[in-house]
Amino acid sequence: MTTFQQSTVLCKQAQSFLDREVQHLLIDGENVPAASGQTLTTVNPSTGEVLARLAAGDEVDIDRAVHAARKAFNGPWSTWSPYQRQALLTRIAQVLDEHFEELIEIEALDMGAPLSRLRNTKPAMMKMLSFFASQAVGISGETLMNGIPGKVTTMTLKAPVGVIGGIIPWNGPLNSQFWIIGAVLASGCTAVLKPSEDASLSVLRVAEILHEAGMPSGVINVVTGLGKKAGHALAAHPDVDRIAFTGSTETGRSIIQASTVNIKKLQLELGGKSADIVCADADLDKAVPGAAMGVFANSGQICFAGTRVLVQRSIVDKFTERLLAFTETLRVGHSLDATATLGPVISRSQLDKVLSYIDVGRDEGAELLCGGQRIGGELEHGYFVQPSVFGGVTNEMRIAREEIFGPVMSILPFDEVDEAIAVANDSDYGLGGAVWSQSLSTAFRVVHGVHTGTMWVNCYGHIDPLVGFSGTKLSGYGSKGSAAHMDTYLYTKSVYMEL
Ligand code: NAD
Repeated sequence: MTTFQQSTVLCKQAQSFLDREVQHLLIDGENVPAASGQTLTTVNPSTGEVLARLAAGDEVDIDRAVHAARKAFNGPWSTWSPYQRQALLTRIAQVLDEHFEELIEIEALDMGAPLSRLRNTKPAMMKMLSFFASQAVGISGETLMNGIPGKVTTMTLKAPVGVIGGIIPWNGPLNSQFWIIGAVLASGCTAVLKPSEDASLSVLRVAEILHEAGMPSGVINVVTGLGKKAGHALAAHPDVDRIAFTGSTETGRSIIQASTVNIKKLQLELGGKSADIVCADADLDKAVPGAAMGVFANSGQICFAGTRVLVQRSIVDKFTERLLAFTETLRVGHSLDATATLGPVISRSQLDKVLSYIDVGRDEGAELLCGGQRIGGELEHGYFVQPSVFGGVTNEMRIAREEIFGPVMSILPFDEVDEAIAVANDSDYGLGGAVWSQSLSTAFRVVHGVHTGTMWVNCYGHIDPLVGFSGTKLSGYGSKGSAAHMDTYLYTKSVYMEL
């Protein structure tokens, strides 16, 4: 244990949650052990020490949870009016507000993001809940004209699709779970959530808080466990109507295959290798920190991280010098250290993966300009990597093509804007991307030219539920946010009425 951790006092609720001997599943409003009695451990990535013991759910537990969710879907919950569901979401926002410090402490210890970063995510969580509360009272079909002889009235109705399987990754579950929970509660669906085995705690604790706020039992259930067991069982369960999945492209493929059993509807938010294009006329006061944090935020564990930084050749030296100076100011530390801007990566295997990509970059002939090492000293037991920058990268190199999911930036010089657009598009992925330029016409040329689900101009990473966020190509499909998001939790019924 580091001196730092020994001196840290958690709030009472977070401590008492973490003191539980085993974190059980949450099915039908009850904390229950896995049917097999098996458990698995989860580790604090800042120290490498065991943080908690989780119930290792499997297909038996998934079946129990799906049954509870189906029973709730058909029960009194189905009679709740839109106003009642809206009021529940509003109440949940209030209760979460009261529990926020506790939740960010649990999340910081479980997945390693520093408290300073997590504290800043509160407005995003509250916006999501407020967005979904508004959506609860906005569900509507249409009355439509028709060409049928006689007096036939035609309309469409919207109805909740049923039981949702929500499969969540480890890189920010405290916030990302609300893309599913919000839409489930607003639409009248029910759900079984399967968080990542590396970061399940905030999902378990939030589910308890939802019940405290008045959510009926069975509406949201949580089964922890391994992806290949519990996750696969959820994707393959014949009584789950839709899967909302965020995670890697490889897992997305296996979910598509498993979902064919009952032709589930799918929303897949997958990996990325986004291009961040810095033109010669960019305002470097904004572009340098913007591009740096577009990669290093959350220690590089963000799906839309702009890891390929394409810089116009005439400013490469100036940009790189300023970028390296900015990178020096980033403080990597224990997630509970109030002065840390970056924490560790999630696990030993992720650390090894990131370090092996740094070796790959060197072997491919890219120039390592800073970082590249695991951090030692007080942090030696945690999974800390120095923020790392490669210069002279070409788009053929593996570090420019494959998702690293760690604090590793590649700088690729370009001459003409059209060349930058072509390089940005020369990727299997299509998730995020940005352009930095003071010329509106250059910016729009890039926005129109790059094949990606989301583009930022002179900024990086803003997401608002009213606007939405989505991917294309191997980055998946299905919008998070916007009316399109809600629509995928509903199905349309066409009605022909002869009176
Ligand atoms: P992952 O695919 O390994 O795991 C994601 C979830 O799927 C976990 O809960 C895991 O237990 C589960 N899972 C694993 N195998 C499964 C299987 N065979 N069937 C069903 N479920 C299974 O991803 P990860 O390593 O947790 O997260 C990192 C990846 O997620 C990166 O590729 C990142 O780009 C992506 N991601 C995408 C977005 C987005 O919005 N596009 C957001 C965050 C993360």
